[in-house]
Amino acid sequence: MAKKRKAVKTKKTLKKKATAAKAKKTKKKAGPAKVYLGLGSNVGDREEYIEQVIFLLEKNPNIQVTKRSSNYETEAEGGADQPAFMNAAVAIITKLPPEKLLEVCQEIETALGRDRETEWGPRTMDIDILLFDDQIVSDDKLQVPHPLMHERMFVLKPLKEIAPHAIHPVLEKSIEDLFEERKAEGGEKYDDELPGFKDIKTGGYDDYERW
Ligand code: AMP
Repeated sequence: MAKKRKAVKTKKTLKKKATAAKAKKTKKKAGPAKVYLGLGSNVGDREEYIEQVIFLLEKNPNIQVTKRSSNYETEAEGGADQPAFMNAAVAIITKLPPEKLLEVCQEIETALGRDRETEWGPRTMDIDILLFDDQIVSDDKLQVPHPLMHERMFVLKPLKEIAPHAIHPVLEKSIEDLFEERKAEGGEKYDDELPGFKDIKTGGYDDYERW
């Protein structure tokens, strides 16, 4: 009983926090932004696809790659019947706005043969925008910070390597702290005290409006 009351309080507090954070941070700052991308591949030469992404990002005159993590091999989520992923995180500096950067990332995914037919199926390359400065974006096509990043060890692990002190602007915690929290939770479980988590587990981006 007492636990339930606490959960409700946490949910309310977090929702309030996200709304307050969004109101505070929707103002875009001038100049280039520091952005973190998450990469994942589980088809073909996975390491080579990661190299290709970095090469293609750098070829873009509006993007400068400043850091990259090691590659981490991860089992496909939920024990899905598909090959293991190779994951990495990349830091870039860009003058592009978030929506344009998403387009560039999707063009790279397509250039690398990404098949979008099967939503959760194997993929040559998946590029996620994890953090975009301290901006909070929540529209149909793009949600930043990436709504699942703080619960995915395959995101937090490489990101911690290159940006341990970067701050998640909604949760207001460092990547290092989010990683440690997730690790303590067992790394795989979902925290249903956070709003929307149960729905997120079933897929879809519909419940991400909470950002
Ligand atoms: P995925 O299957 O991971 O490639 O994601 C598919 C869709 O997620 C894309 O069509 C994007 O519009 C959407 N999306 C929402 N937020 C993000 C984000 N932060 N980074 C990348 N894709 C995103």
